[in-house]
Amino acid sequence: MPKQTYITPKCCKEADNNAVVLSGREWESDEDAVSIKPKWVVPVFKGEYYGLMEVSFCPFCGKDLPDVELDPTIDSSKIYKFDDDYCGNCGERNRTCSCLQPEFRWKPIG
Ligand SMILES: [Zn+2]
Ligand SMILES: [Zn+2]
Repeated sequence: MPKQTYITPKCCKEADNNAVVLSGREWESDEDAVSIKPKWVVPVFKGEYYGLMEVSFCPFCGKDLPDVELDPTIDSSKIYKFDDDYCGNCGERNRTCSCLQPEFRWKPIG
């Protein structure tokens, strides 16, 4: 099974294709990742690079995107921890470790 790297709203195939994802860009710490809600974003091409734009509805099917809540079933020992260049959970370098991204503490309601 491939590692799941994004949380998608599951409203339609296009959104599910990692085009609409949960993102916690304001997080700088573990505490932020549980206290600040992540947002639904879509990549937008800005000339030379992709930026992220916050969306409240799906740009593909038009449905409102669900609110999110902390997932009580999540095993926090599998979640990436902010710690400079390394993951504070497993000790490997950032982005190469296999811990779940902190977004996975959250889940769409419903
Ligand atoms: Zn959709
Ligand atoms: Zn890790």
